[in-house]
Parts: sequence; structure tokens; C-alpha cells
Amino acid sequence: MDHFDTIVIGAGVAGLTAARLLSNAGLRVVVLEARDRVGGRVSTERRFGLATDLGASWIHGITDEPLADAVAAFGMRTAEFTVGGYQPDSRPIAYYGPDGTRLSDADTRRFTDDIHTVDATLRDVVAASDPLDSYRDVTEVALAAQGWDDERAERVREYLEHRSEEQYGVWIDDLAAHGLDDDAIDGDEVVFPDGYDRLPSRLADGLDVRLTQVVSRVQWSESGVIVSTDRGTLAADAVVVTVPVGVLQSDDFAIEPPLPEPVAGALGRLKMNAFEKVFLRFPTKFWDDGVYAIRQQGPEGRWWHSWYDLTSLHDTPTLLTFAAGPAAEASRDWSEQEIVASVLTQLRRLYGSRVERPTHVHVTDWQDDPFAHGSYAYMTVGSTTADHDDLATPVGGVLHIAGEATWTEDPATVPAAMRSGHRAAERILRRAVPIEQVWSAP
Ligand SMILES: Cc1cc2nc3c(=O)[nH]c(=O)nc-3n(C[C@H](O)[C@H](O)[C@H](O)COP(=O)(O)OP(=O)(O)OC[C@H]3O[C@@H](n4cnc5c(N)ncnc54)[C@H](O)[C@@H]3O)c2cc1C
Repeated sequence: MDHFDTIVIGAGVAGLTAARLLSNAGLRVVVLEARDRVGGRVSTERRFGLATDLGASWIHGITDEPLADAVAAFGMRTAEFTVGGYQPDSRPIAYYGPDGTRLSDADTRRFTDDIHTVDATLRDVVAASDPLDSYRDVTEVALAAQGWDDERAERVREYLEHRSEEQYGVWIDDLAAHGLDDDAIDGDEVVFPDGYDRLPSRLADGLDVRLTQVVSRVQWSESGVIVSTDRGTLAADAVVVTVPVGVLQSDDFAIEPPLPEPVAGALGRLKMNAFEKVFLRFPTKFWDDGVYAIRQQGPEGRWWHSWYDLTSLHDTPTLLTFAAGPAAEASRDWSEQEIVASVLTQLRRLYGSRVERPTHVHVTDWQDDPFAHGSYAYMTVGSTTADHDDLATPVGGVLHIAGEATWTEDPATVPAAMRSGHRAAERILRRAVPIEQVWSAP
């Protein structure tokens, strides 16, 4: 049986980061990856000659962000697109009222001011919340404190519902009160016109990455680990497990003996979401000029309410919208044509016959991806923010869980994945390692 210093399971950003730092330190490391590519939930397709990021697109704030330093060091081209955090007014947005007519600038300002007012109240309400409160519970308290009439409160209420869906792919009643605590954006947000996948490609450079190796079992004891795949069995002194929460919870991935507390409890309180992307490329641009996004208020926007204008990335008229939370669950078995028809019906309410048939579409299906089981993990009602870090508690001194769901400060993101991989490497090496060594070897 082949023996390594460390086996890393999963060639996403967390796994590749850990593997890079450990191999830089001179350890014998192998990365086992189920897919036929690296990157995991960072995935770019170029079917139509344009880079389309099917998984992560944004760095949600580049200020003091090591990931931003990494992409700069790797020479990756970025484009500013500061509208990825479901902000109400970070950049110009065309808001359409429930009747389908565009709000005036003054009405838009009144609406976005209302959101900021509720958010200011919400901070204290969340801080004082009960452990079993949902995000719905705290937002209702914050809304009630304003004393607004029904219509005014309802517009903000639906905005808060959409925030839960777009940020965490979950219905507002199912998200913990603290589930959006990390929802801060420091500095500009950027996206990648040439594709986000250049990051994992660069991280994988020079590593021993073995693709199409599906790990089914990890046996650990204080003397080391044995990892079983569909191709055989490998042994190591330590293992870094970076598979998504959905895989960790599935019967297809066994850890023996079972994970102890606090890891098992934390894992049980996190859950993969339902969040899919719908890209539509059109022959001509029929929507508003000078805006980053278009938003539809009211009951008509229950499913399709926000469209992001990606035209400037490739000089091709392109809108991105999301099926998020209940919409993603309900349309899970729909064909691509059915989803596109549903989105176009909604767009036609706003732009009438100017809406053309798209030339290219892409609809993702992360919910049915056996190596993801969803897009990212959210905090179910009853979980605490500490569950993220608890999930990464080293087991037996040999088993280290890393990945987006294990980072408290900014979970569900690529930066979280990178930092969690860095932390796992430091724990195995038992010393501090500057994170810069991820992109510049010592
Ligand atoms: C639609 C979507 C939009 C997103 N948008 C953003 C965004 O704009 N900004 C942002 O920062 N983040 C975003 N994210 C989240 C971000 O993509 C993830 O947080 C991050 O990529 C997770 O990295 P990871 O290394 O933790 O996990 P992964 O990338 O999932 O890596 C885990 C790896 O383990 C592999 N694996 C799974 N099971 C097995 C097995 N049994 N054996 C071997 N290997 C296995 C997987 O194939 C995968 O390669 C988005 C994600 C999705 C899906």
C-alpha cells in the first residue's frame, strides 16, 4: 500500500491550498479528486467561446483579502462588479415596482433607505436573538419596530426574503438568525472575464493530483489514516478532508470510527443549499443602460427578481439570474427550456416584445451533483456561528476537515476555502506559515 505524509481529499480551493503549503514544506502529498478536473465548485465552461463561471464568480470584497493577492500574483484579469452581495444600492440598479414600471430615482432612494434603516435595527435584534430564532424571526422584529404601513413593510420584507435566498440559497424561515452575520463586503467586488478556474489550475500546478478517484472511506486512528477509493487503498500519517458538507453527510462517504464531538454536532447543523445559476446570452441588449442589475418587486418577483448585467465582461449582451431556495427546489426537475421560458415570461413583463430569444443559455444543476449535493452550506435554525470552526476541530491528531463550511468569518466562499486549507496545513506542520506561500513558494 502506498504511504504518504498527507492525503488531501478534494482538489477544490481548500484542498489545493493545503496540498501546496504541505508540499512546499517538503511533505509527500497526494490529492485525490473524484471529478475529471480540479477546482470543485470553482468551475468554468467555455462551450460558446466565452468563459462562463458555473460555480463561484465573485470575490466579495478585495480589501485585505489574501485571495485577491493570489489572483493578482497569478496574473488573473478581474472586472469590478460590486453587486454580488445582494446590496440594495452599492451600484446603480434598475428597480421595477410590483406593477412592472420602473421606480423613479426618488422612489428607489426611499426604498433603499428603508432597507438600511431595517438593517441598522437588525444588528441589535440578531445580537439579542434566541438560539432557536430564524432569520425570519429577527427580520420580523426589526420590521415591526419601524411602525410602517403594510405596503412599505412588505417591500422590505420581500427584499429580506430574497437576500436569504440569493446569499444562502435557502428560504428565510430555514436560515438561522445568525446565518447572515458574515454578510459584509470590504471594498470592491470583482469577477473574472477569463474564468475563475485559472485559480485552481495555478494552485494545482506541480502537485500530485489524481483525478477520477472517488473516495468512499476514511479510517483513522492516532497512528494514521487509510483512505479507500474506487481504485485502491492508500495510507498516510494525516488526511485533509475537503469534500463538501453534503458529501460528508452522505452514505457514500464513510468516516470510521465516526466523527466525535464537537465535529459531528456541527456537521449535523449545517446543510447544503439549493442555488442555481441561469445565464442568458442575447443577440441584442434590450434592458436598461447604465445599471449593474435589474430588480423586480412584488409577488411577480417571487422566483425571478434579480438579473445581473454581465454584458461588459465579454461585450456580449448577457444576463445572469439565480434560482435560489424554493425556486431552485421547485424547478429542480425542470428542463432547461422550461426554466428559460419561465425567466423570459418574467422579463417580458418588464421589457415586452423587446425581449428576444437567447442565443445561448446555461442552467446549472449543483443540487444533483454527487460531489457537491448543492452549492454551499448554510446554518440551519439552531446552529451557531461557531459550528463552522468546530467542524474543523482536528480528530485524533490525524484527520483535518477543511473547506468553505469550516471557516466562521466568511463561510460559503472561495476565500473561506483558501483560508481553511491554510489552517489545515498549519495544523499538520505544527507551525505558522505565511499565507503568501500559497502563491509564492518560500
Ligand atoms: C453556483 C455557485 C455560486 C457561487 N458563488 C460564489 C461566489 O460568487 N463567490 C465565492 O467566493 N464563492 C461562491 N461560491 C462558493 C464557492 O464556490 C465555494 O465556497 C468554494 O469553491 C468551495 O471550495 P472547497 O474547496 O471548500 O470545496 P469544493 O470546491 O467543493 O472542493 C471539494 C472537492 O472534493 C471533491 N470530492 C467530492 N466528493 C469526493 C469524493 N468522494 N472523493 C474525492 N473527491 C471528492 C469535489 O469534486 C471537489 O473538487 C459559489 C458556489 C456555487 C456552486
